Amino acid sequence: MKNFWKLAKHIFWIALLTLFTQVGGLIYLVFIPLFRLITKRLEIHRGRRWLKLGSFFCFYLIISLSIIPPLAKSLSGRVPLPFSSKHVKPLHWGYFLLNRNYVKPQLKEIVLKTADKLGKAHPGSYVSYLDACFPFKNGYPLLPHISHNDGRKIDLAYFYKQKKSGKELNGKTPAPIGYGSTLEVRKGEVNRPKYCIENGHWNYNFTAKLFPKFPWRNYEFDVKRSRTMVSLFASNPGVGKVFLEPHVKARLGLQGKKLRSAGCHAVRHDDHIHVQL
Ligand SMILES: [Zn+2]
Repeated sequence: MKNFWKLAKHIFWIALLTLFTQVGGLIYLVFIPLFRLITKRLEIHRGRRWLKLGSFFCFYLIISLSIIPPLAKSLSGRVPLPFSSKHVKPLHWGYFLLNRNYVKPQLKEIVLKTADKLGKAHPGSYVSYLDACFPFKNGYPLLPHISHNDGRKIDLAYFYKQKKSGKELNGKTPAPIGYGSTLEVRKGEVNRPKYCIENGHWNYNFTAKLFPKFPWRNYEFDVKRSRTMVSLFASNPGVGKVFLEPHVKARLGLQGKKLRSAGCHAVRHDDHIHVQL
């Protein structure tokens, strides 16, 4: 019985790590026998749980930073977005650490160049990315984004500012990881969120329910910088589509064939934009 629970625990961790990081389950499979061998040799019996946790984290980090990037480039032609460059950063470190930051080199170049242009237009500002794609295999989805499965898609956070002072913020959104920072629909605007929710598309509002806005974060939508970001991406010839909700599009005062609504089957796009090649 003890062995059964031990096996169940391992399967649980492998499944969870595979779901959230794609490669974490495999790294765990290599790590467990290695850890057993080392602790047996060194006759370590006390504090094994914390030692295991700490050393797995280090092992995962080393593999993720040293082996996964060249392997992803040669096997699937995808490259990671930077952890910290002057004009591009993940909104939350998790997007980088969980290997959810892989894209085709063409998309990486578009993101970096667009962010540089934005940084020139609004000095001190940088683009914050959310989920992009995993390192390997076309068709392998990065849940809950079914379409993020080919290295050609990325989500980016809108810009916000302090409500009281009007201070421009970077890398900060009303909800903790970007998703869920929904923009309320005003009177007279097309209310796609209401339509999708009332028509039973539970997945549409999923991220907003999972990550509600922090009430103490008194932020407001920064129209000026968000407009610059969206129009810069839309005007890039390499970009195929930019998804955003109709009321955000109207608020930004932008038009264009590339600016589209993702529809009710996708997660809502009034807390981020989705850019794809
Ligand atoms: Zn997306």
